[in-house]
Amino acid sequence: MYKIQSTKVMKEIMGNYFLGMKDKSKKIAWCTSVGPAELLRSFGFEVHFPENHGALLGATRTAGDLIPESAKFGYSNDICSYLTADIGSYLKSETPLKEHYGLEGPPKPDLIVYNTNQCREVQDWFTYFGRELNVPVIGIYPPRHLDEVTDEIIEDVATQFRKMIPICEEVSGQKFDNDKFKATLKLSKEATDLWKKVLYTATNTPAPISFFDATIHMGPIVVLRGTQQAKDYYITLLKEMEENVEKGIGFLEKEKCRLYWDGMPIWGKLRSLSDLFVQNNTAIVASTYCNSWVFDAFDEENPFESSAKAYTEIFINRSEEAKQRLLTELIEKFRIDGVIFHDAKTCANNSNSRFGMPQRLTESIGIPTLIIEGDLCDLRFYSEGQSITKIETFIEQIESTKILSN
Ligand code: SF4
Repeated sequence: MYKIQSTKVMKEIMGNYFLGMKDKSKKIAWCTSVGPAELLRSFGFEVHFPENHGALLGATRTAGDLIPESAKFGYSNDICSYLTADIGSYLKSETPLKEHYGLEGPPKPDLIVYNTNQCREVQDWFTYFGRELNVPVIGIYPPRHLDEVTDEIIEDVATQFRKMIPICEEVSGQKFDNDKFKATLKLSKEATDLWKKVLYTATNTPAPISFFDATIHMGPIVVLRGTQQAKDYYITLLKEMEENVEKGIGFLEKEKCRLYWDGMPIWGKLRSLSDLFVQNNTAIVASTYCNSWVFDAFDEENPFESSAKAYTEIFINRSEEAKQRLLTELIEKFRIDGVIFHDAKTCANNSNSRFGMPQRLTESIGIPTLIIEGDLCDLRFYSEGQSITKIETFIEQIESTKILSN
């Protein structure tokens, strides 16, 4: 199986990002993963993303020991396991950042910013830390579950972004500089365009990058948006992917089946799931999750309105109808044979199988779908044996239908 060569560069960049947090001369802002990171960077903040830490706790399987800790303080096992793992990590003073980067924990924030475009859970999570660490907290509250993102909505969110300026100036000690904001947004736009091109190389057969690879290589677009490092990294990765497309090199030698993954990754099972699909000659070539960091709307000439639009029109913040349209486009573009919906127990917001979407997709475009139950971090909600059986049966059914129709 082909291994992506740029991984080494990506690990170096991510390592430098975390080590950079040790620099006490820099002000630190915490931000939600689809929050206004570019505006914060324009004030010179280093930006930490608690969800990224949550994913790390899931991927290293340390979340299991930490989640019960936050339950003792009243945070239910049924709510976002990024939240419960991250708060548990704080309460127990345990983090994989220690072993990997010599950090005692996530960097202490000077300012905390969240955007409820993705869920209300981030509000509770971030205000917990605001209280605990005695740090100012800013919330952005866009309208939710939108079919269309209208000019009025964009204006509302852009106004909320503008209202962040005085507190950002006060905490950072820097005056707002529109040119810096534009330059940061330009870098972010260039990086996100490159990231999209990387993901879209998988429209080819054989696909050079899988969903599982993409969940690792998306690190810089999540945590380093608005920096030269992120842009440079995706130039490198895209070059490798395009060369592989040209040479006909895919991560699988033979692709029997092309699938789409909807919902959150199961971080603690990435490797075993990736191996399972490889053994079955099945390529997961596209996903809702990795596409969530494609921000087509960014435009440095119009930084407030365009970032308000980009961060409000994200998939998770759309109506069922809009989601169905977007899924249909991706299914067609990537020539998908079947869709796997991950129903994550602790994230209803990113689980799209609960309101009839699989059935509607099958009815409208004839695509087979499968729902597997699991979770992003809490592996108590994932039954491995049952899921493997369901997945293998699903793949077999798709293959037999393909053989019959050929
Ligand atoms: S979208 Fe889901 S996983 Fe992400 S922070 Fe909200 S509840 Fe947690």
